[in-house]
Amino acid sequence: MPAMTFRIECRCNICETNAEKAGASFPLAAEVPMALSQVALTSEGRHGLVHLAHDPNRITGASARLRTGVRPAQDEPGHEPLGVFRATVTRDGVALERDGQTYHRANLVGDDAKDGGLFEVMFADGFWMLATAGDMTPLELG
Ligand SMILES: [Zn+2]
Repeated sequence: MPAMTFRIECRCNICETNAEKAGASFPLAAEVPMALSQVALTSEGRHGLVHLAHDPNRITGASARLRTGVRPAQDEPGHEPLGVFRATVTRDGVALERDGQTYHRANLVGDDAKDGGLFEVMFADGFWMLATAGDMTPLELG
């Protein structure tokens, strides 16, 4: 069952050092299940999730990723749909036009806890739009 996820990055000094050590591209990024969106609303929370996603420890890192569903973000995100956009909170003309369409990428862009966070979502045709958590429906429920 594909879980709805969004993408976050951490640009802190610790993550920069870890990326250098691992030979990974900076900033480090993570794919995070929607259920953890509240955690991602603070920079400390985002760092924790990104750190977890890239924890190189084979035992603790792997089990934490399995338990939380947090994983390293792919450099080239797949084209699998993540969820269905519903113009529930965001109800301008463009949103209403996009109602019912699947989105294929989701980045957390706002720290505002109102409406569960602000995201930019990408539709199948490559069009990006701002949406809130309240507009985003997991695919299996869409
Ligand atoms: Zn960090």
